[in-house]
Amino acid sequence: MTLRLFNTMTGEMDPVTPADGETLRMYACGPTVYDYGHIGNFRTFLQLDVLRRFLKLTGTKLRHVMNITDVDDKIIRNAAAAGVSIGEYTARFEKAFFDDLETLRVERPEVMARATEHIPRMVELVQKLAAAGAAYQAEDGSWYFRLAAFPEYGKLSKKDLSGMEDGARVDLDEYEKDSARDFALWKAAKPGETSWDTAIGRGRPGWHIECSAMAMEYLGESFDLHAGGEDLIFPHHENEIAQSESVTHKEFARIWMHVRFLLVDGRKMSKSEGNFFTLRDLLLKGYKASAIRLALISVPYRHQYNFTFEGLAEATAAIERLRTFRERLISGSFADGLNEALQEAAWNARAEYLAALADDLNTAEARAPIFELLRAANTAMDQGELKAGDRDAILVVLKDFDAVFDVLEDGDAEATRRALEWAEKEGRMSEAAAELLARQGLTDAAIEALVSERSLAKKQRNFARADEIRKELAEKGVVLEDSKDGVRWKRK
Ligand SMILES: [Zn+2]
Repeated sequence: MTLRLFNTMTGEMDPVTPADGETLRMYACGPTVYDYGHIGNFRTFLQLDVLRRFLKLTGTKLRHVMNITDVDDKIIRNAAAAGVSIGEYTARFEKAFFDDLETLRVERPEVMARATEHIPRMVELVQKLAAAGAAYQAEDGSWYFRLAAFPEYGKLSKKDLSGMEDGARVDLDEYEKDSARDFALWKAAKPGETSWDTAIGRGRPGWHIECSAMAMEYLGESFDLHAGGEDLIFPHHENEIAQSESVTHKEFARIWMHVRFLLVDGRKMSKSEGNFFTLRDLLLKGYKASAIRLALISVPYRHQYNFTFEGLAEATAAIERLRTFRERLISGSFADGLNEALQEAAWNARAEYLAALADDLNTAEARAPIFELLRAANTAMDQGELKAGDRDAILVVLKDFDAVFDVLEDGDAEATRRALEWAEKEGRMSEAAAELLARQGLTDAAIEALVSERSLAKKQRNFARADEIRKELAEKGVVLEDSKDGVRWKRK
């Protein structure tokens, strides 16, 4: 069974097969570790997880490389504002990223590559570009890619670049200009900024050069598949292609896969709109990790996904049905033998499921036959018509389903516990849903945290907040007693 994916480069559905006949070599742009990941980011990583898992399920070996951008404009700015080194600043968010992937059961790529650990490779690539006449040094010591040296620029995004100004430059890592500019490969050191002393001068890499250098380091000059969020098509991926192909004169990546971003309640997610959610926000609101995973993968990657809380509730219910069903199958006792109709239903469900995924990873259509089989099997069990041989056949289908969807095993309580532990440490327990705390049981440490937050609020004469905390604790059965020795609390 061969997966076909929509290839942004060709505009067609292309078969995804390893060029070397053995291992599919793929690169996916990873996170910039300057903050907690939001659900739009995780939709991309989850859809890549679907890709990985389906390829493995159908017998393809993988070498999947993902970069960690641990130096860029935003990181330098935020680290300076926090008064710490970029290494200290990014370590915290890199860990959060990996913890979040684990919570969402996203498999780790075979290679994770940090930008700051590959500076010599980037410098080497800039030197090769300069030798090829595709890079030049500006007066301030920064290096730029010369767009005029790569006439194919724009071939991925299909942008009309006729308005391109020769020699105009941009040194931002992220920009959305429609007309292209010579972009920064290497930025000369500014006072106080993190920099590296190299053969092309003291400075730091631009964002785009990272991916070209690291992709070629681990996958060679030409590889099978390159993936990322749709917002990376221009300019990031266009720039990666220009940097790489100007040196190698070989096709950088054969297939380009782009995951569409999501809307929240029909609107673009943004902090100012108040509809911006990290994974941790949702866990603290009481939603289960498995439901978030299922909701974010159930709409195929090439479709816009409209995130809603009703959608999460639907996913929660769907998982409950699946888990209950599997439990019923495993624990039930069934007569020996087979039920022909159920055997056929199981066979067909599996075939339809695999065919839907092979067709551009259509997760929505892949889900449908599984739930149809569940209904048919439940009815058969109610009527005593499901036999032991059917149970085994259906369990095989569920196993294949879960090899990609991975929601059957219940790790939700543990994921929620970790989120609460984090909120406690970060002083964000007030964001946790009351229902969730009641469900998880308010720990002594959580109560202590709220009590000290209340004392601080009183000291700062923020009596409204202090009262709010007292009320909140009272609702959860915790009584406060102010005394001259401080605040005592007890559970009712
Ligand atoms: Zn990239």
